[in-house]
Amino acid sequence: MINLILFGPPGSGKGTQAAKLLERYNLLHISTGDLFRSEIGNGTELGLKAKSYMDKGELVPDEVTIGMLENKVEQNPDVKGYIFDGFPRTVPQAEALDKMLGGKQQAVSSLVALTVDDEELIQRLLNRGKTSGRSDDTNIDTIKNRIQVYKNNTTAVADYYNSKDKAVFVDGIGSIDEIFSRLCVEIDKVA
Ligand code: AMP
Repeated sequence: MINLILFGPPGSGKGTQAAKLLERYNLLHISTGDLFRSEIGNGTELGLKAKSYMDKGELVPDEVTIGMLENKVEQNPDVKGYIFDGFPRTVPQAEALDKMLGGKQQAVSSLVALTVDDEELIQRLLNRGKTSGRSDDTNIDTIKNRIQVYKNNTTAVADYYNSKDKAVFVDGIGSIDEIFSRLCVEIDKVA
């Protein structure tokens, strides 16, 4: 099994690269943001709860997020591995992921982090907002808050896996194909 965490701030290209990586490595892509948006679209109670946080660019509480993620993994046991995108975003989420995988005699193979500077992130998110239909991509205050929340809460996840020698950092500036090649070089080392 390969269990990858595709990591990076909002707008760093995780979704775009995950779509290419899952084809190449034949993995199941699990994006907690996509799962929340689907819950919102279906008008579920979980979706309603998540929306109140997402609209402000805040993190959805850990217990809600972890429960949803674990359900998704449990529903898809027969895969070659997972690409976790947008999860874990806090150290307790990382610990929960390690525990869940450990219970299946598995582990995180690598956290691959895309690095992109703030100015570029804001431009990319505003551009994406023109077509994504995501309200959290159109409001500049929400965008800035998401980047701040990433710095305050989420970068600690990279430190957590770095301390286990499982984190690699990849330049997230360039063409989609260039960045994809850089990611593949790193992933091939653990695949
Ligand atoms: P994303 O699609 O990954 O940019 O996520 C959009 C929004 O969903 C985030 O700004 C959070 O409000 C929420 N979200 C997604 N994943 C998580 C997570 N792992 N933990 C908490 N909130 C999350």
